[in-house]
Amino acid sequence: MKIGIYNNESAESQRVTKLLRDEIERTGLDHDEKQPDVVITIGGDGTLLSAFHHYIDQLDRIRFVGIHTGHLGFYTDWRNFEIDDLVDSLVQDSGQSVSYPLLDMHAVYSDGTVESFIALNESTIRNITKTMVCDVYINNQLFENFRGDGLCISTPTGSTAYNKSVGGAIMDPNSIGFQLAEMASLNNRVFRTLGSPIIFGADTKLMLRLRDANDHVMTCDRDQMRLKNAEGKRHLLEVSYQVSKKRIYFARYRHTNFWNRVKDSFIGGAK
Ligand code: NAD
Repeated sequence: MKIGIYNNESAESQRVTKLLRDEIERTGLDHDEKQPDVVITIGGDGTLLSAFHHYIDQLDRIRFVGIHTGHLGFYTDWRNFEIDDLVDSLVQDSGQSVSYPLLDMHAVYSDGTVESFIALNESTIRNITKTMVCDVYINNQLFENFRGDGLCISTPTGSTAYNKSVGGAIMDPNSIGFQLAEMASLNNRVFRTLGSPIIFGADTKLMLRLRDANDHVMTCDRDQMRLKNAEGKRHLLEVSYQVSKKRIYFARYRHTNFWNRVKDSFIGGAK
């Protein structure tokens, strides 16, 4: 089995990376950054998000494992002092895995170009200079006209991230679908949106058609694209979203209870 290691720049991540490399060498497992079977990320959720995009063309064959060197993360199950246990699990690996849904996004620009992305957490569209105005289509039918700061479209596993901060619901990571949450929508007698988050099923197609060519920022996880309507530059026309045919796979060497993690992270010592 070939192991790839992907770490962030912190001193602690580099220390853990060296420890893990030495242990992998000692056990005779192969170290391969180019075509690994298992990718171990060392850092936090952000490091795992970066590794996911780094290996995006090999998602079908890679399983991820996250070691966290700071606070407990949602994609990082192992602690930095558990390297021996993790290496034992790698040696005894029998291909066990768990997988979660991802979000496909297709952006269409004013010059006719189309770009496709896959999000693990979410995509957001915001207008950073004016109120964002867009038409929201569900399965090609106009649903509402949105006015406000922006919209957040998240996966089930991303629902505990940005989505939660903007009032979205937390989704069971085993559910297949995605969520639309509003960011500060303008609601009055003239402009009206649903005003609550919507959870879509596996077959729904969501499309956002922007009403103007202003200064939009579109994100896909950690990546930000600023789409300024400067002369001669393309601007964003519409973005469509649906559940991806691809999934992310994690090597599941032990069970972690998702709802305990939600409780630990957001509630603390409930009695
Ligand atoms: P960052 O350094 O700003 O950290 C964001 C925080 O989100 C970290 O504490 C991270 O552990 C946590 N996080 C990431 N994915 C998570 C998940 N699936 N569930 C629960 N918590 C999660 O940014 P980063 O480390 O580069 O991570 C990028 C992510 O940050 C984005 O995908 C987005 O979800 C999130 N973000 C959140 C807000 C917000 O809540 N207002 C704003 C911008 C970005």
